[in-house]
Amino acid sequence: MSTFHSLDRSGRHGHTLRMKSYAKELWFETAKRYELIDITKQVEAALADSGIAEGLCLVNAMHITASVFINDDESGLHADFLEWLEKAAPHEPVAKYRHNVGEDNADAHIKRQIFGREVVVAVTKGAFHFGPWERIFYGEFDGRRRKRVLVKIIGE
Ligand code: ZN
Repeated sequence: MSTFHSLDRSGRHGHTLRMKSYAKELWFETAKRYELIDITKQVEAALADSGIAEGLCLVNAMHITASVFINDDESGLHADFLEWLEKAAPHEPVAKYRHNVGEDNADAHIKRQIFGREVVVAVTKGAFHFGPWERIFYGEFDGRRRKRVLVKIIGE
């Protein structure tokens, strides 16, 4: 029996591939420069909309000064994250960064690099196959303007 049984296009095993593909862009405009937002419910709504029961869901920030990451929804931890990021890549003094010629967001590029561009979550039986306490977050490091997150789901 093939390891890739479920991907066999031939239907010889009575299993025809009917891969679906779904994409949705979520928009955010934060009030503050930095915000960590739990977007799990919005991504779950996209999954429900997709009708996909088995597959993979990619969630990525579409801007290079924002992140998507998975962690605990706990306010103390989020304060710790932001404090740690500010030590690693402080916003001020703006002039210390070579990138900050005509803009002031070098720190945001570095913060995003640390927290990552995207996550991929397995979809099993129509739901996200999370580990304990896992939630999906949008990490904004240069906010107060409209920015997007892409949700792309493939499967069947
Ligand atoms: Zn920049």
